[in-house]
Amino acid sequence: MFKHPLELSGARILVTNDDGIDAPGLRVLERVAQEFSADVWVVAPETEQSGAGHSLTLTRPLRHRHLSGQRHAVNGSPTDCVLFAIAHIMRGQKPDLVLSGVNRGGNLGEDITYSGTVAAAMEATLLGVPAIAFSQVTGTREQPIHWGTAERHAPDILRLLTSVAWPKDVFMNVNFPNRLADQTTGVRIVAQGRRESNYSLVALTDPRGNDYYWIGPQRLGELLRQDDTDYHAIEDGAVSVTPLHVDLTHNETLEKLREAFE
Ligand code: MN
Repeated sequence: MFKHPLELSGARILVTNDDGIDAPGLRVLERVAQEFSADVWVVAPETEQSGAGHSLTLTRPLRHRHLSGQRHAVNGSPTDCVLFAIAHIMRGQKPDLVLSGVNRGGNLGEDITYSGTVAAAMEATLLGVPAIAFSQVTGTREQPIHWGTAERHAPDILRLLTSVAWPKDVFMNVNFPNRLADQTTGVRIVAQGRRESNYSLVALTDPRGNDYYWIGPQRLGELLRQDDTDYHAIEDGAVSVTPLHVDLTHNETLEKLREAFE
């Protein structure tokens, strides 16, 4: 179990993200962390790393840029940032808590497996630090992003989550619904959902006549899980909170396989 309750006041908090050091959601989470503590550190990717998942940069060197005070940018993935922060920038004293986000866009269901935001929280967990990933669900490109919803509700979620004991293998995934802060319908503790994954591949031709491709946006696939999941909570206008764990073993199948191989 992680130490609990985790005392937020004066805690050493590391903030990171996958949208990059200049992302508005990072500023939101920095302000939230600063409500609780003056010992807030920011170590975030130089450039957007959405979809980077839990990747590590191994084929080129990492460089870091000290921006000001306790703010740093690293030319790597979110996982690189957490590792770099704990192993180097904050090496004198580990953070008490890692916060990742606030991501521009939800991290629901199978999105979690692609998400750099969630992976940063996973990396912190592997390094022995409790962590929470935050994402703000968005609408179409033309619609405003309700950052105020994340900013208003994140402090209460943070208080709630740090008052409960979690095993050392567990980290938290929080999503804020795409609506105004005072129009949310509460907080729901829900399982990770599952939708049919439905990315499109778009083929184009460059000015020299060569083909190239973009992975397009995900079209909303069919819901494959109908019980109360993160998708349902967000659809109902609630903040979703899902505890995740690093252990990917499927125990039921493990048992079946053991019997089959006996
Ligand atoms: Mn992102």
